[in-house]
Amino acid sequence: MSGSINKVKSVTVIAVIAVVVLCVTIYMIHFNPNNRSGGGIPEESSAKSSSYINSETQSNTESTDPEGTTLEDNSVTETSTDVKSTTVKDPEEKTTTAVTATTADKTTTEKATTEKADNKTTAASKESTTAKGEYEYAYAGFNPSVADTSGKWNLLLVNRDYILPEDYTVKKATAAPGYNTEIDYRVAGPYTEMFNAAKKEGLTLVPLSGYRRVSTQKKNFENKIASYTKQGYSRAEATQLAAKSILPPGTSEHNAGLAMDICSLEERFDQTKEFRWLQEHAADYGFILRYTKEKQNITKIKYEPWHWRYVGKEAAKAMKASGQCLEEYLGYA
Ligand SMILES: [Zn+2]
Repeated sequence: MSGSINKVKSVTVIAVIAVVVLCVTIYMIHFNPNNRSGGGIPEESSAKSSSYINSETQSNTESTDPEGTTLEDNSVTETSTDVKSTTVKDPEEKTTTAVTATTADKTTTEKATTEKADNKTTAASKESTTAKGEYEYAYAGFNPSVADTSGKWNLLLVNRDYILPEDYTVKKATAAPGYNTEIDYRVAGPYTEMFNAAKKEGLTLVPLSGYRRVSTQKKNFENKIASYTKQGYSRAEATQLAAKSILPPGTSEHNAGLAMDICSLEERFDQTKEFRWLQEHAADYGFILRYTKEKQNITKIKYEPWHWRYVGKEAAKAMKASGQCLEEYLGYA
């Protein structure tokens, strides 16, 4: 009997333990705060979290909202504008500064050159005053008259016999796109047309030298004289020799802005495609080869395949057809 009593006791104990465990479990399920917020009330939790997400979304939405964005983006834009404008402004300012500096430099250089030239002119005129006879000797062989500027401007004859009047002025323009070389503004158009026509055939008629100041011509002439006196010639001899290759100041077509030295200053220029093109087409644009091999006795200038003079289409075509040089065409020879 004591065995069955023990059995009953054991079952009771187990039952009590089971009840206690059950109660604890129920309590745990219902009153544990972790379970409540965890999975106990999923909807609320999800509502909470969704509300949090919404508020995030909202704040995101707000930030993409026009006003918000405008504000926020303004600051961003402003910042980036600042950065951009700083980045953009700086180089511009630098460039502007650089350009200004360059311009200033140029101006300074030009001023200096002008001043130099002026000084030289002053010095030269002083020199020519003191050594007038000597300087006149430069012209002794050909004693130029003042050129007649009353006729057609494009047919102006300037050579060692006809010197430009001292007050002759040239209104200049750049001769061709991309080049600084200047020429009489009335010749700039025809030169550009000719330049463009040649360009279409792959040839570049580089405008090397157009308008030249009388003072520059004088400098070149004096340099040439000096190179002969260095070789032992007297000034008179040197001047006459110099005059064979360089025209005395005021007697060059470059001083009148009516001629252009094209591509090269070498005689072999006449072996180039550019020269052949000019021979064939230049007259159509009003230009002539001014100092030919054949007419050196009249022009008194050595053959210059690079020196092209504007005379206008009509005269150019007529001279091309007749083979006359300008002196002949105008009845001076
Ligand atoms: Zn020339």
